[in-house]
Parts: sequence; C-alpha cells; structure tokens
Amino acid sequence: MGTKYDEILNRLDFSTIKKKDKVAIKMHLGFKDGFQTFPVFFIRRLVQKVKETGAFPFVTDNPTSVYNAVDRGYTAETCGCPIIPIAGLKDNYKHRVEVNYKTVDFLDMAGVMKDSDVLIDVSHVKGHGTAGYGGAFKNIALGGYCGTSRWRKIHGVEKSAPYWDSDKCTPEHAEKLVELCPYGAMKYDSEKHHLDLGFGNCHNGNCLECLKADEGVGCLSIPPEGFAAFQELMAIASKKILDCYNDDKKFFLNFIMDVTPHCDCLGMVQPQIVPDIGIVGGRDIVAVEKASLDLVRDARFLVDQLPPYLKHVSDDESLHPFQRIWGPYKDPYLVNEYGEKLGLGSRKYELVEILPASETKDLKPGKHSFEDQATFF
Ligand code: SF4
Repeated sequence: MGTKYDEILNRLDFSTIKKKDKVAIKMHLGFKDGFQTFPVFFIRRLVQKVKETGAFPFVTDNPTSVYNAVDRGYTAETCGCPIIPIAGLKDNYKHRVEVNYKTVDFLDMAGVMKDSDVLIDVSHVKGHGTAGYGGAFKNIALGGYCGTSRWRKIHGVEKSAPYWDSDKCTPEHAEKLVELCPYGAMKYDSEKHHLDLGFGNCHNGNCLECLKADEGVGCLSIPPEGFAAFQELMAIASKKILDCYNDDKKFFLNFIMDVTPHCDCLGMVQPQIVPDIGIVGGRDIVAVEKASLDLVRDARFLVDQLPPYLKHVSDDESLHPFQRIWGPYKDPYLVNEYGEKLGLGSRKYELVEILPASETKDLKPGKHSFEDQATFF
C-alpha cells in the first residue's frame, strides 16, 4: 500500500508547488472517538513529499478537531508538520464571500483557505446525514468555513424548500408527528407553533412514516428540493474556495478506506459499509469524486454490518449504497453534477490503477525485517 501511495503522489506531480509555498493539507481530523478518517501514516508520507519541493506544508481543520487531534494520533510530531486551526483559535479568522443563493447571502470562509498558496484536499470517503456522501467537496464546502456559516447557513439552506403548513397543523398533530419519527428528525416548539425538520436525520423515501400519519391532514411534505439545495450550496461554497488557488496548485486525494455510514463529525466508531477499496488521486475534484462514488457503488455492500438503529435501509439495488442507507433524495452524485455545471471539472474520467494485481502477482514478496536485524537503532 505504501508503494502504491508513493506512486499516486508521484503521478499527482507536485512540481507546480514552488519553494516557500504555504501548502494547506485540508483533512478531517475526526472528533472525540471518531478516529476513522485515515491513518497518520499517509499524512506523514504526503508531508514528506511536499517538503521535497521546498514548500511549507501544514495540516488544517476546524479548531475543535485540531485541539483534540492528539487523541486520535495526529500531532505535529506524527504528521511531520504543524497542525493549525483553519479559522483561527476562536473560529473567527475569516474571509467573507458573497453567495446570494436562496436563503444565504454570504458565507465566512476560513481565513487559512484564503491565505495559503496550495490546497491539498485530502478526504475520507464516507456517508453523510444530509448529502448521503462526504468526500472532497464536503471536506472544503463545510470544513473550509467558520462554524457559524457551516451550521447555520450551509445546513440552514436545507429548509429553504417549504415542508410544513402551520395553518393546517394542530399542536396535537405536530406532537404526534414528532413522536412517531423513528430518527428524531422533527422537533415541535409549541410556544411558536413551529415544526422543525432536521434533514440530516431524515431517511426520506426509505421511511416516510410521517407522511402516512399526515394523510387526511396534508400539512407536511419531505421536499427533495431541500436536500438538493444543500448539495448545490456545497458546490458553490467549494468553488469559492477553489477560486482562491491557481489551477496547478490544487490536488485531491480520496481515501476509500474504512468507509463508514456517518460523517467523521459523529465522534464515534462505526462499521464499514464496503470493503476497503484504495485511494483515488487527481487534480480534478469532479473526476476524483465521480470515480470514488462509482467504486463504492460497484463494491460489495456490507449491509449485514449496519448498526440496527439504521432501520430503513432500502433493498433497492439500483440505488447507490449511500442512498440505500440515507434515502433516495440524498443522491450522492448531486454535488458533483452541480460542481461540473460550475466549471470545477469533468465527470468523464479515466481510472489508472496503480500496481494492479496483474503486476503485483509477479513481484517478489516483501522482505521481512526483524528488530534484531535493524541497523538503525
Ligand atoms: S420521513 Fe421518516 S425520518 Fe423523515 S421526518 Fe418523516 S418519519 Fe422522520
């Protein structure tokens, strides 16, 4: 794996990184017990490769994950470079960008994204409650912004599509809807007579138990447009960040290993949903994401390993595994389609397998080395 990874890094071709460039390695450092991003082994190897160019790499993520990254094994010593909070110590070092998309006027981009010369977007491929999928787009679209923009504005846009008619709903009916939702996706504020739908917890077309209970009342809908708006805003937010870098200063690495149903933000250990696949690298974010999603789609779906609290996994094999878990409205390819429309890359890709089995079968097995044979210690 190390040899394959080195070759992927060679083919990414860091010759366009110049001496003294400040190189942001944006990754998700996990949260609490959520250590399944990818092993520090790969980051250290990447950092060494970047240093060979004479540039200054650093790892960056949100301040909370940076502060407790040590709990999951990521330190300056293990990574081989500093780890810095992407929007400053108090998550308030920002660069404001106009967006004017649906309910969102502007977003506060993390200042470090604006300051750096090179972006290496290193992502753990996994599921995501709101988009179905989290990879290279999500890593910067959410992780590249201050917390207030991430949680209130980007996630807030989900609710831009009308889903509830307050005039048609009595408080008793609202309470009933909240109670029967198996995922706690709805909350009702009786004082304000307001029903809040958390799109991230809603399993939409796989579930729809609320709509059955709403028959004859007709106050509720689960609008696919809300889920789509989140993905379109992710593409827009990503473009704002990618526009900060020259075309030859952007690199993407997707780790399709330890693919979990939930995002790394959940702070918990999770089962894999497909066997480990490998690492996809490239300079085109759209191509890297499309290839990653296709590889997950074509892998063996380990449905038996899913935790029992995911109660509505679809049997429909025509759906992507992330939709089978999160519902058909959370189409994992959507962000990519929006990204392509914004000119961020192409969904047509050529996948070049590094050291395929046909080549490795003829290689000599690796040489074992034991502690007593080591000459360096
Ligand atoms: S579709 Fe299911 S998960 Fe979504 S709000 Fe309705 S009951 Fe809850």
